[in-house]
Amino acid sequence: MPTRADRHLRSVKLAKECADLGARVRTIHKLTGLPPREIQRLFFTNPMAIPRGRPPASPEWYHGANLLFRTDASIFATTYQRLRCGGFSPEESLLGAYRQYQRVCPSPPRISFDRAFDLASHTDGIWIATAPSFSVVTCPCCSSAYLCAMGAVAQSDACPFCKLVVRFGTDARVQSSFPARPLPHPSVFHQEMLVRQHLARACHRESEQQCESFQGGGRAD
Ligand SMILES: [Zn+2]
Repeated sequence: MPTRADRHLRSVKLAKECADLGARVRTIHKLTGLPPREIQRLFFTNPMAIPRGRPPASPEWYHGANLLFRTDASIFATTYQRLRCGGFSPEESLLGAYRQYQRVCPSPPRISFDRAFDLASHTDGIWIATAPSFSVVTCPCCSSAYLCAMGAVAQSDACPFCKLVVRFGTDARVQSSFPARPLPHPSVFHQEMLVRQHLARACHRESEQQCESFQGGGRAD
């Protein structure tokens, strides 16, 4: 069983990964349980650089967002849900899906890490949400998976990808957002998640070994 030190180190490592992706203190706190003051001390040494402003509120935002934001949110949420279904933890799925989103979408990304955290929270009903308010459905027309309100029926009229295809020929903003370019090979993403899975297992084994040695030699933490 992991010791308190193991859990703390794991939280600090997760916090650093989130901070590197631009997370605000509140998001890191909700994900790791680390106290906000400690997060500030460790990762935001320049008080002027701390991300501020209202945190995202996606259930209201998504339905009024423009088409490009809705497609990006759907790309992130679909990857997140696929990883969750594949057995990854919410934290691993959030990091993996956000990195994959950064790879396939234009830079700078429209969806911030804080927004991605909020979308994942409201899709799974975890962290800051008490129940799911989004679900990922498959469009009956183009077969793309997209984000919609919980309980909504999948239909082409509501699918952002169907709308994107219609608008692409005439909308310069859509064209510049999705220029023709080769996508990263799926094996790059697959490889990263295999590495994460391997690291998680190695970390778990290490914790078990440390626990056994502590149990043999005295206090566990
Ligand atoms: Zn569609």
